[in-house]
Amino acid sequence: MDKKVRVRFAPSPTGPLHIGGVRTALYNYLFANKMNGTFILRIEDTDQKRYVPKAEEYIIEALNWFGLKLDEGPGIGGNYGPYRQSERKDIYGKYALALVEKGFAYYAFDTGEELEQKRKSEEEKGNQGYKYNHATRAEMRNSLTLSPEETKALIEKGENVTIRLKIPVDETITFTDKVRGEVSFDSNLLDDKVILKNDGMPTYHLANIIDDHLMEISHVIRGEEWLSSTAHHVIMYKYFGWEAPEFSHLPLLLNPTGKGKLSKRHGAKFGFPVFPLEWNGGEEVFEGFRERGFDPKAVINFLAFLGWSTEDDKEMYTMDELIQAFSLERIVKSGARFDFEKALWYNQQYLIKADNNEILAALRSGKMSNSIANHSDDFMVGMIDLMKERAQFYDQIITDGQYFLTDPTDYDIKTLKKKYKSENQNHLDNIKNIIADCTEFNATNLSTKIKNYISENELSFGAILPILRIFISGTLKGPDIFEVMGLLGKETILSRWAKGEDLIANLSKE
Ligand code: GLU
Repeated sequence: MDKKVRVRFAPSPTGPLHIGGVRTALYNYLFANKMNGTFILRIEDTDQKRYVPKAEEYIIEALNWFGLKLDEGPGIGGNYGPYRQSERKDIYGKYALALVEKGFAYYAFDTGEELEQKRKSEEEKGNQGYKYNHATRAEMRNSLTLSPEETKALIEKGENVTIRLKIPVDETITFTDKVRGEVSFDSNLLDDKVILKNDGMPTYHLANIIDDHLMEISHVIRGEEWLSSTAHHVIMYKYFGWEAPEFSHLPLLLNPTGKGKLSKRHGAKFGFPVFPLEWNGGEEVFEGFRERGFDPKAVINFLAFLGWSTEDDKEMYTMDELIQAFSLERIVKSGARFDFEKALWYNQQYLIKADNNEILAALRSGKMSNSIANHSDDFMVGMIDLMKERAQFYDQIITDGQYFLTDPTDYDIKTLKKKYKSENQNHLDNIKNIIADCTEFNATNLSTKIKNYISENELSFGAILPILRIFISGTLKGPDIFEVMGLLGKETILSRWAKGEDLIANLSKE
């Protein structure tokens, strides 16, 4: 059967999109593009109590940042709209009524207090985990227990009118999940879920399957937390006489210890973002991968392998390569540990691969642009080239390479003291002269001349080069010192040298 592939990402706008939600969106996107299918955004906003303004905007901005291009959705259009469930609310009621008419659903009028009382009295009898189901529905106020007249009167009164799904008794509900294989649920353990609320709005379950049907969704790819709801969905598909889509439930994202689900609290606990973009919800402010300085391509590459794998051990994949390689069959069942170190590694790999001019453009428009404003493009490209191998983030090129931009203020005096020997002072003076006399001032010439001097005088590199480094950059860390010298130029090096000599003079005074 050649059914056209149509997949949807269906977030509820109840707050910022968790990074796990981005992975769900990514897998839907990869599968749609691999199959020449359609990637749809549907906003599931029927729960007005949990609705958070700005959440939808945030979701769309995050998808855009990652380059997960939508084919249909709110603000984009398509032939299956509207794509916000709140704008589809007139659609759902008649489907719920059709189930009532067929005897697959029923009206229930129990108030919140009545339900609570029932729960308490069941618990007092020792029945933990009370459910509204085949065993208890006969004791409640619903159209199965009340007369048709009473039912009609209560519907007309319009208070606490809900419609519940009538789950069949003694059945095994089985479906095939592409990730987990055959999955079965005992229908006696399922509850008669409310599908239409008193305000006429559908609950998630009803709206979700009606829309999946009307939007001709071929594959449902979503998080594992929805696996148990799928039993209810499969029952509804059967009741409606509709063909169910194929299901794939993605493994949980686990926190870095590998124990327990990755939650928004873990971000603060482990010191990394768990949201794609910064979220400012007034009381709650969450850091984003974007604001931390991540390249969206690196985050995509990282997320792709959290719950999916390829046959080989290649790790760097462009979006197009991911699309080509992706398959639902290779999604794993077990939870995927969120290893932030790996995310950092990916970012570094992308930084190394990035074009220097591109990095420069990002730095010039970034939050540290002031500190490089006085430096030419040529100089900056040279600095970026030397620093990018050691940085995980663009901004780190500036923070760790501060000595490229200004004279050091912080010197590693401890090492200087250890390395400096007064008997080498004349050699240091000679090296200074070599620098001063170097006409073609570049890394190769400096390196050859200074290294030759060290060898000819039977000195050790370890006795001289650390001192040079500290004079020039203040620290032992950093790229090849001759490259740094070549880029900074003779004048700067000699003036830093003079400051270095002052440091030495002060050492001996101590
Ligand atoms: N609205 C649900 C969510 O927020 C969608 C679950 C599904 O994809 O069916 O995750």
